[in-house]
Amino acid sequence: MQAKQIETIKRYQDLDMQLYSLENEFIKSQEFRAVHYLKDKYLKGEKSYARLLKEKDDQIDHFEKIIKKFDELKVIEENIDQDINEIKDLVELDLYEDSLLKYEECVTSIDKEMNRSTRKLNEIKIEVERLLKAIEALKSKYIEQKAILDNLKKEVLMKGAPLKKEMNSLEEHIDKNFLKKYRALRKEKKMPPFVQYLNGNCAGCGMQINLEVEKKLINSGDYTECPECRRIVYKP
Ligand SMILES: [Zn+2]
Repeated sequence: MQAKQIETIKRYQDLDMQLYSLENEFIKSQEFRAVHYLKDKYLKGEKSYARLLKEKDDQIDHFEKIIKKFDELKVIEENIDQDINEIKDLVELDLYEDSLLKYEECVTSIDKEMNRSTRKLNEIKIEVERLLKAIEALKSKYIEQKAILDNLKKEVLMKGAPLKKEMNSLEEHIDKNFLKKYRALRKEKKMPPFVQYLNGNCAGCGMQINLEVEKKLINSGDYTECPECRRIVYKP
């Protein structure tokens, strides 16, 4: 690599480091965190809401099952709906009393389950109302915070625009494959991606790499990949 080419890349990288730090400031900002926190809470709220609706449906199904028990009750009712004077003997009396007992049990059980189910449905209703209010509040807070963040984003983009402009013009003078590799390293947050080979060390990760790269880095401008961090190391 020519000395001029190295200078171009170094300039490009300097600008990009400034851009990178602007991006990082943005991502670490209070505003960015606030928006993501609210979004997260909102999504959790929506999940809880879906779970409550499912619980409500289950309770309604259960309610319908209780109502079917009235049919059972009707059958027992027919058995006890006879004139007490028509009972002829003790066996018939026993049967009659049995039916009476069953009837009572059935009524008690229906009553209990109806109460339980009604109570549960009421609880769900209250919880749904509370949740909907909370979701609504989160939504307006999110919209508010998002507008603040959008403004901040505009500011960052404005600050970054002149950097980006100069970088674009420099890109024309940099090898395409080199840029591809550079961008891949940037994506992995290995910044800066283009580093010097100094005293047998990679200036990026600081590891001793002379054994692996010595033969590839003979003349000034020679470059290769650091076997430790994959950055591009060049001989100054
Ligand atoms: Zn390295």
